[in-house]
Amino acid sequence: MSQFCPICEKPFTEEDLYDAKIPFSFKCRGCQSRVYEVKTSLLLLIPALGFAGLLIFLSEQIREWLLPILPFIENWPIALIAIVFLFPIYYFGENTLVKLTYKHGKFFSRKKRVA
Ligand SMILES: [Zn+2]
Repeated sequence: MSQFCPICEKPFTEEDLYDAKIPFSFKCRGCQSRVYEVKTSLLLLIPALGFAGLLIFLSEQIREWLLPILPFIENWPIALIAIVFLFPIYYFGENTLVKLTYKHGKFFSRKKRVA
């Protein structure tokens, strides 16, 4: 099932959501309107936060495991460790959130539909 822009009614894809890099809203390629999604994004906020917590926890663990071999990572910010070592998990998680938003989202715009 495809989602459609509430303004110009052109279909958009998961990639459009993914490219936006922020949840809740993206810009329609067809009419340049900002399209919003709130309901599903809010529901997904809780698993998303849990997922972020898990990434931080795993990153702390990885830092502890690797410190004896790579002492210089002690000064790395935790986000950097997450990106370097957990990128596939991060990518998978982000992808899943985008897929779920796309599948279940109710998209709307503040602009009035052009008749
Ligand atoms: Zn549009």
